[in-house]
Amino acid sequence: MKEMKSDLVVLGGGPGGYTAAFRAADLGRKVTLVEKDPVLGGVCLNVGCIPSKSLLHLAEVIADAAELEAVGVSFSKPSINLDTIRTHKESIVNTLTTGLDGLCKARKVERIAGTGTFLSDTELEVETKEGKLKLTFADLVISVGSRPVQIPGIPYEDERVWDSTSALALGSIPKRMLIIGGGIIGLEMAAIYHGLGSKITIVEATDALIPPADKDLKQPLLKKIKKQYEALYTSTKVTKVEAGKKALLVHLEGKDVPATVEADVVLVAVGRRTNADRIGIDKTAVKTNERAWIVTDQKQRTNVAHIFAIGDVTGDPMLAHRASHQGKVAAEVACGQPSAFTPMGIPSVAYTQPEIAWIGLTEQEAKARDIPYKKSSFPWQASGRALSSMATEGVSKALFDPKTGRLLGAGITGKNAGELIGEAVLALEMGAVAEDIALTIHPHPTLSETFALAAELAEGTATDTMNK
Ligand code: NAD
Repeated sequence: MKEMKSDLVVLGGGPGGYTAAFRAADLGRKVTLVEKDPVLGGVCLNVGCIPSKSLLHLAEVIADAAELEAVGVSFSKPSINLDTIRTHKESIVNTLTTGLDGLCKARKVERIAGTGTFLSDTELEVETKEGKLKLTFADLVISVGSRPVQIPGIPYEDERVWDSTSALALGSIPKRMLIIGGGIIGLEMAAIYHGLGSKITIVEATDALIPPADKDLKQPLLKKIKKQYEALYTSTKVTKVEAGKKALLVHLEGKDVPATVEADVVLVAVGRRTNADRIGIDKTAVKTNERAWIVTDQKQRTNVAHIFAIGDVTGDPMLAHRASHQGKVAAEVACGQPSAFTPMGIPSVAYTQPEIAWIGLTEQEAKARDIPYKKSSFPWQASGRALSSMATEGVSKALFDPKTGRLLGAGITGKNAGELIGEAVLALEMGAVAEDIALTIHPHPTLSETFALAAELAEGTATDTMNK
């Protein structure tokens, strides 16, 4: 076997991995990036966040165009050219992966295209096209991500059974699509395929869609999709899917739900699991927990001091922006800097229509943990900009510490909520109190004002609406 020595190895080139590699290279380390796929960017860039956002954009424009009919502007029904849409989506991904290749070269990060598995705490075996390679390293960052969870009773070999990757491949537009899992992936895919013309049914095991988000934030979405979709079954389990000739027969178990539903495609979106079990971790002394998540400290260090782990492989929340920040921390710590991953919060966004975004403490969490809070929310029906933009199905809310007025958490539902939550994220990270937010002059008329108005309501200084 060919042998090679490396200073710092990054295993996995997704948003966490390439960030760690680039940061460490900028700080002077000699970096080797091992990635099994020919392109960098991982799930997020290639088969996740980016392609889904390009398709969600189309779905949103289609929905917006249809809504204009109510105010006197009509378009004919959209005609969908799936091949052109697919090419468009792929060109966005290609632009970004080509950009990453350039950044990698410019930083002189050495790339190895191959699958790495541990041989020991200091050696990695990499299976490449040209054969096996033994890589000895001084430091290593594990960033091998996650994969979709599979539940029993599903004929995964049937090409009508999709996961998020096959859904984003855009092979066809099914007439009837049944989605197992009412989480973020399920609802984003529902928005895409509804926009493209599919009839959507969602089956969710718990009693609510997007379980971690507060009820009031989900209400506007729920109200809308109840009208748009064929059916939403909560507290319902799929016990089995049978592959019939003409359709898939989905067996349900729940209260007041049909025993079976037919679908042309079933999308399974019931969560993701770490890939830590696929890299020979047992050949090292690195500790994993009962869910196979790699355990790290705030410096992203595992119990083996020269091995770091970042991103999905370290567990929830499995989000690209968490991974990339952790990647920076790991790289900086490996380069002797006093960095740590200690955010005040990690924002979550469901890019549905309307979007749902939140950060920090949620109300359900506050109630469960008995944390006192003062809630203030501003309904978008009272926003001039929301009215003008036909975007009144929204709410901006903030939770403050009743004693100090400090922001504890925030949630925004509505058009561009994923962008708007950035302000709450900054406010939380900076330790802002309600008065800081209320006294910050926001441009008028904008949707961003609604967050400041929520703070004004908490202060009792609002004039655009009555203070309670
Ligand atoms: P999820 O955990 O967000 O949602 C899965 C849903 O499936 C949950 O509501 C769960 O209760 C339900 N479920 C589980 N088992 C079920 C069963 N047998 N039958 C019916 N329902 C069942 O997972 P996801 O939507 O698959 O997303 C995976 C990960 O990817 C998450 O960590 C998510 O945050 C991340 N992601 C984020 C974004 C984003 O930030 N916009 C987009 C896509 C994915």
